Amino acid sequence: SMDYGPAPEVNDHVKTWLSHHGKGVGHYIGGAFVPSSGGGSFEVHNPANDTVLVRVAEGTAADIDNAVAAARKAYGGWSKLTGHQRARHLYALARLVQKRERFLAVLESMDNGKPIRESRDIDVPLVARHFYHHAGWAELAETEFPDHAPLGVCGQIIPWNFPLLMLAWKIAPALAAGNTVVLKPAEFTPLTALAFAEICQEAGLPPGVVNIVTGDGATGAALVAHPDVDKIAFTGSTEVGRLIRQSTAGTGKKLTLELGGKSPFVVFEDADLDAAVEGVVDAIWFNQGQVCCAGSRLLVQEGVAERFYAKLRARMETLRVGDPLDKSTDIGAIVAPVQLQRIRELVAKGQAEGATLWQPKTQMPGAGCFFPPSLFTEVEPASTIAEVEIFGPVAVSMTFRTPGEAVELANNTRYGLAASIWSENLNRALEVAAKVKAGVVWINCTNLFDAASGFGGYRESGFGREGGREGMSEYLVHKAEKSGVAGKDSPALVLSASP
Ligand code: NAD
Repeated sequence: SMDYGPAPEVNDHVKTWLSHHGKGVGHYIGGAFVPSSGGGSFEVHNPANDTVLVRVAEGTAADIDNAVAAARKAYGGWSKLTGHQRARHLYALARLVQKRERFLAVLESMDNGKPIRESRDIDVPLVARHFYHHAGWAELAETEFPDHAPLGVCGQIIPWNFPLLMLAWKIAPALAAGNTVVLKPAEFTPLTALAFAEICQEAGLPPGVVNIVTGDGATGAALVAHPDVDKIAFTGSTEVGRLIRQSTAGTGKKLTLELGGKSPFVVFEDADLDAAVEGVVDAIWFNQGQVCCAGSRLLVQEGVAERFYAKLRARMETLRVGDPLDKSTDIGAIVAPVQLQRIRELVAKGQAEGATLWQPKTQMPGAGCFFPPSLFTEVEPASTIAEVEIFGPVAVSMTFRTPGEAVELANNTRYGLAASIWSENLNRALEVAAKVKAGVVWINCTNLFDAASGFGGYRESGFGREGGREGMSEYLVHKAEKSGVAGKDSPALVLSASP
C-alpha cells in the first residue's frame, strides 16, 4: 500500500506506553527494570515540538557496575549454549521486533525526529533483518569459527541518529557469538532501546544477557573504564572515539570504533543526472543528513555542473520539511537544539568563508528543531565546511575537471567511511572506486546497507567492521589467544596499529 502513515491506534499504543511509564523508565539490569542507584533521572524530548516524552534513569558508576556484574553472571550460561540454542533466542527477538514494527517506528520518530517513512520502511525492517541474519551466524558459529570463543562482557555505546538500528548492529553479533552485553544508548534517544529491553523480557532471553543503562557521556565513560569489560564497541563522534581509545589503551580490552565521515559523492559528466539527483536526496537529506556515511561532499564534473545544480535545486524545492509523523514528510526534525545550533554555526561559517548558500522556498514549521535542505556551491576544498562533518541537511559542492582530480578531491579528507560514484561508464566508475580510500564505495547508488556486508571506515572514521563475517569476528577471539598463548592484549595491540 502507498499509505505510509501510522494508523491512529499505533499512535495510541505509543501514548499508552508513554503514560504507562509516566513515573519514568529505569535501567534494564539482570532482566528487571531498576531505578538509578543515585535516584537521578533526565527528560527525553520530542525534537519536533519540544514536548517531554518521558523521564529515564541517570546511569551512575554503581549502575554500570551492577549491569556489568549481571552480564558477567549471565555469561557463564549463555556462552555454554550451543549456537543453535542461541539462534532460537535471536529468532525470537527478530520476530518480536517485526510484530512491534509500527510501534517501534512511531516511538523512534517521536524520540529522534526522523520521518515515519524512514523509521517504518528502513530503520525497523533493517533491525529485524539484522537479528535474523545473526541468528543464522549463531547457528553457523561452531562450523564457521571452530577455533574461536566469545570475548565475554561487551560494553556498547551508541549514537542518536539510528537508535534502534545501531542497537541491533551492536547486540545481534555480540549475542550470536556468545557474549553478553551492557549497552548505553545516546541520551537524546534512549526510548527504543528500553522498548527493546521489554522485548528481551517478553522473548524470555535469560536475565543479564542484555543490559541497558541510560545516561550521558559520563555513564559511557564509566562503562569504558570498567575493569570487567572485555570489549568496547563504540559508534559516535571522532572526538569521543579518541577519548575512548586513550582510555582503553594498554588495558587489553578489545575495541572497535565507528566514527564520523565526510563522504564524497562524485558525479561524472556521463552520469544519468536525474538518477544522480535522486541519489543526492538519499545521500544528504536522508535522516536530515545525520548519517555517518552521508554523501555530504558533492564533487561534480565541470561540464555538467550548472545543469546538475539546476536539476538539484528544482528537486530541493519539492522536499517537504515538517512533522516526522506525517507520512508525506521528507525532512523531519534535527535531534536536539544543540545539534541545530552546531549546523547553524557551520552554515554561517561557510557563508563567511565565501561559499554560495542556496535554500529552497520550503515552508518551515513554526516550532521545533528544523533546518531547511541546503546547498553550498563554490566551496574551497580547504575551507571549514569542506572538511568538517556538518551532520545536518547541508550538501557542500565542488567541481573537478578530470577523473584524476576527482580522486584527489575525494581522498582529500581525514575520514574514509564511504563514497558514491555516478557514471554510466562502469569501467571508469570501477577504476575510480579502486582509488578512493573508503570502507564502502557505492556505484550509481548510495546509503545501501545489509546485515551480510561489513561496514566501517579508515583513518579518522575508525576501525573494525560491523555486519557479515568480519563483524562476527570482532566479537570472537582465537581460542589460543584466550587461553593465554598470545595474551589477552594482542587483539587490542593489533587494532591500535591502525591509523
Ligand atoms: P557522541 O560521540 O557525542 O555520542 C555518542 C555516544 O557516546 C553517546 O551515547 C554518548 O552519550 C556517548 N559518550 C559521550 N561522551 C562519552 C565519553 N567520554 N565516554 C564514553 N561515551 C561517551 O556523538 P553523537 O553526537 O551522539 O553522534 C554524532 C556523531 O556520531 C557524528 O560525528 C557521526 O559521524 C558519528 N556517527 C558515526 C557512525 C558510524 O557508523 N561511523 C554512525 C552514527 C554516528
